[in-house]
Parts: sequence; C-alpha cells; structure tokens
Amino acid sequence: MKALQELVRKNIWLLSPDETSLNKPDKDDARVFLDANENPYNKPHNRYPDPWQTKLKATLSQVKGVAPENIFLGNGTDEVIDWVYRVFCEPRRDNVVAIAPTYGTYKVCADINDVEYRAVSLSEGFQLNAKKMLDTCDANTKVIWLCSPNDPTGNSLQQTEIEKIIIGFDGIVVIDEAYSDFSPAKVFRNEIGKYPNIIVLNTMSKAWGCAGIRLGMAFANKQIIKLLNKVKHPYNINMLTQRHAIEALEHRQDVEKWVRMLLQERSQLMKAFEYLPICERVYPSDSNFFLAKMTDAQSIYKYLIEKGIVVKNKSEVELCENCLRITVGTKSENSELLGALRQF
Ligand SMILES: *Cc1c(COP(=O)(O)O)cnc(C)c1O
Repeated sequence: MKALQELVRKNIWLLSPDETSLNKPDKDDARVFLDANENPYNKPHNRYPDPWQTKLKATLSQVKGVAPENIFLGNGTDEVIDWVYRVFCEPRRDNVVAIAPTYGTYKVCADINDVEYRAVSLSEGFQLNAKKMLDTCDANTKVIWLCSPNDPTGNSLQQTEIEKIIIGFDGIVVIDEAYSDFSPAKVFRNEIGKYPNIIVLNTMSKAWGCAGIRLGMAFANKQIIKLLNKVKHPYNINMLTQRHAIEALEHRQDVEKWVRMLLQERSQLMKAFEYLPICERVYPSDSNFFLAKMTDAQSIYKYLIEKGIVVKNKSEVELCENCLRITVGTKSENSELLGALRQF
C-alpha cells in the first residue's frame, strides 16, 4: 500500500481537524447548555445529536466485534460511498476500478465527483478475476470497489481472489458486505487489523430491517476513519436514528430469526422458479434476493406491475440480459408472486 498521504486528496489531507471537529465539553460535567443556539424547550429533540455517536458505536462494537475507533457511520451506506470518493479521488485526474455488474451507487458517485469509473466484467459464474482487475489499474487508480455477496448477482466473490486484490493493489479496496448477514462466507470486517488498505461496508438496511432509519457503516483502520471523520457533516446521524439503531442492535435475536426464515423462503422460491416454464435459469445466491433469467423479462416485469407486484428488472445490465432480481418476501408475498407468474 502507498503512504496514506499519497492516496488522499490534497485539500482533504491539509484540512485541519480543528476546522471541522466539534469541541463540545464533556456532557457529563456540563449542566447548562447555552452554546449552540438550541431552544431549551421541547425536550429531548431540542438538542443536537451526539456528533460522534459514542453510545451507538459502543453497541455496534459489541455486535460486530470491531473497536469503536475503527467504525465510521453514515446516513446510509450511500453517504459513506460518496465520502470515499471525496476523500481519496482527485476529480478529473484519478480513477477507480469496479466489478461489473454491481451496485449502481459506486458509478453514480463517481460521475457526481467527476472521477473516471473503470468497470471490469465478472467472469464465468459471476466470479472475480483478480488479475483482470489489477491489470486495469494504473498510477492514478485510488480505489477498487468490490461487493460480496454481490448485488445484483447474489453470489459471494471468491475469497482468495479478493485477497489477491487486497495484497496486489497499492490503493484502497472497498468491500461492500451489505448482504453478509445472509452468507456463510468469511467477513472481511474481521480483517481490518491485518489489511490497512481495506474499507468494509455494512448497513442496517437489509438483514437488520431498518432501511427507513438510514444507517450505514464503514470499518477500517484508525487513520482512514480519522479522514472520514474530518470530512463528515457534524450531525450526519440524527438522534432518532441513533436511538432506534441501538434498540435494534439490542435485539439481534430478531435478525437471526428473520435471516433463518428468509433463507428458507429463498430456497423454496428458487426451487419454484426453476419449475416455471418462463424461467430459464436461477443463479445461486448468498443474499436475501436472487437473479433469475426469464424468457422475456421486460413483459413479465410489466405484467407483474399490473398485478401490483414490483420486482427489479435488470435486463439492461451487463451480463444480466433478460434477468429479474427477486427480493425474498414473506411466505404470502412469495406465493402471490408465484401465483401471478404461473398465470403469465
Ligand atoms: C442495499 C445496499 C446497500 C445499502 O445502502 P444504504 O444506503 O445503507 O441503504 C449498500 N450496498 C449494497 C450493495 C446494497 O445492495
């Protein structure tokens, strides 16, 4: 890995933490708060939230097995993805390399930040080819984007190939593990001590059932977390989100139960799809969704919409011709979908 200073945008490196940090005194000692122009009435929502999310990070630390100083929180993972560009990539000069197909936000944020995005097609079985990825990098490649299990293909990327990339690349490797709760594969958030150049992303939006509260997270070494903290908006995680997330994290048995139910439903739904005459192929999944190649995805998609059922049409995505991405729902939602498809 290059020295961090060589990887970071110059203006971000030069930002003094004092410019952005919130120098609040320790709240435990203070009693009277006349510093932030808050309204003293309407408790508790009259106060600004904790900018460092101390309690939430302590709780997360227990659940994820990562120290609080190695955690950065975003208003959804999507915010963290944008910060990665804004910290590491100089617009109109640097580039990033990503697998294709994958989560669309990596490309959207590259375009917004005016950073070149180099997409490398996955190989047979939607698998990662480390050599192909590394060959696409040049001196201005700052970040490699990986997603495992991958969206929209559903499968986990091969661990040995991921490791080859982490070791072989001298910049930052982001591994988006949004769906790792559904997968038996080893998680890279446990490897941040071993690999100083990785950023692992997790979210409360999928297995944790909290897409509405907007909470995403990055796990990385302390130096990278410090950089993200330097650029974040002070109160990016609101009070309601912090509270609700702590509550959700204290009920992790619920998540384990949901994951078990969804995996069982997924396996039944995938089997049923294999028997549908309009389905040509069901791809293996390590997630709470799967990709299915249909005879005519576009018209099946439209037909389902008319029935009030929404799936994701991925026909236009590379390597996903005629594919629908199906999120696993409740038993009754899944049978409603199957019933409709059998009548198509
Ligand atoms: C759904 C998803 C996310 C979650 O994004 P949030 O902004 O946290 O809701 C992140 N990465 C991938 C690959 C996803 O599919």
